[in-house]
Amino acid sequence: MSRPDLNEALATPAVKARVERPLLSVVIPLFNESGSLPALHARLRAVLDTMDLAGYELVFVDDGSRDTTFAEVAALGVMDPTVRGLRFARNFGKEAAMAAGLRAAIGDVIVLMDGDLQHPPELIPEMMARWHGGAQMVTAVRGSRDTDPWLRRQLSRGFYSLFRRVSEVALAEGGGDFRLFDRAVVDAINSLPERTRFMKGITSWVGFRQETVDFEPAERAAGASAWSLLRLLRYAIDGFSAFSTLPLRVWSLIGIGMAALSGTYGLWLVLRTMVWGIDVPGYASIMVAVLFMGGIQLISLGVLGEYVGRIFTEVKARPLYLVSDRIGFQEQAR
Ligand code: UDP
Ligand code: MG
Repeated sequence: MSRPDLNEALATPAVKARVERPLLSVVIPLFNESGSLPALHARLRAVLDTMDLAGYELVFVDDGSRDTTFAEVAALGVMDPTVRGLRFARNFGKEAAMAAGLRAAIGDVIVLMDGDLQHPPELIPEMMARWHGGAQMVTAVRGSRDTDPWLRRQLSRGFYSLFRRVSEVALAEGGGDFRLFDRAVVDAINSLPERTRFMKGITSWVGFRQETVDFEPAERAAGASAWSLLRLLRYAIDGFSAFSTLPLRVWSLIGIGMAALSGTYGLWLVLRTMVWGIDVPGYASIMVAVLFMGGIQLISLGVLGEYVGRIFTEVKARPLYLVSDRIGFQEQAR
């Protein structure tokens, strides 16, 4: 292969030259956020209008809200041509909404943020400055979790430290879903086929030149957090199983340990019988052994089941989400 050919073969989007004045996409998942939408839109526009951009678009993804969120997105879209909106056919979850937004965004630079104004739009220029400095992903890391309840803070700390030990990717603690991506990173993320999405893990798995900026999250502007403890727990399990197979492997280790122990014990029993003869009592030790082993086997079966379940959802290959309405997407208008 000659030099130019080789260069052409290597010219994936990641090697594309950077533009000086980029087109910026802001992607915002929304679930019952009608209360904060007008303020969010106003603050975003105020910030973006001061920036040196080729243009910008606001991509709102309504994740099956049950309030007037989408009607308000539509109303904004009538007045403001930079607004684009997608409505899901039902609530598919924030991960799906983020994935849809990243696929729909056309910008050279893409900012992903929450729609409840906990992520201040005023931080975008600072993130953009990092991008101009060469960063391909800028994660806004929250300085404190003071706005979260105590139990939730502790659980989240435990999750991160466990995840660090168990998985091959390291998650930035306190890094929420407030991020700026270069087009190359979004192309990489969009190319991942997996159905069980875990954005925190994916973003660190893809690599690229990453930087962080600090910010203080605000209180929710309106409404309530849609994340109950149970939902967070499910999310954590998804995260673990998507980025680690340790839960599977640990059972082989436990199995080896148990086999070694019971082997030794068996040897001792044989010896004892030969030296001191047969003695019948032993009900307690048999019961303990049977119950203990039964319990261990059920747990390991359960863990296996978690992974089999995940294989099942991946193999079904259902779409991540279904879109029922679009605003501002002429090319795909139906
Ligand atoms: N969200 C979503 N789908 C859901 C739940 C939440 O798109 O099923 C959005 C929500 O509208 C917000 C963001 O995800 O823009 C973060 O949600 P929330 O504020 O409830 O989470 P928290 O800040 O408590 O982690
Ligand atoms: Mg929030």
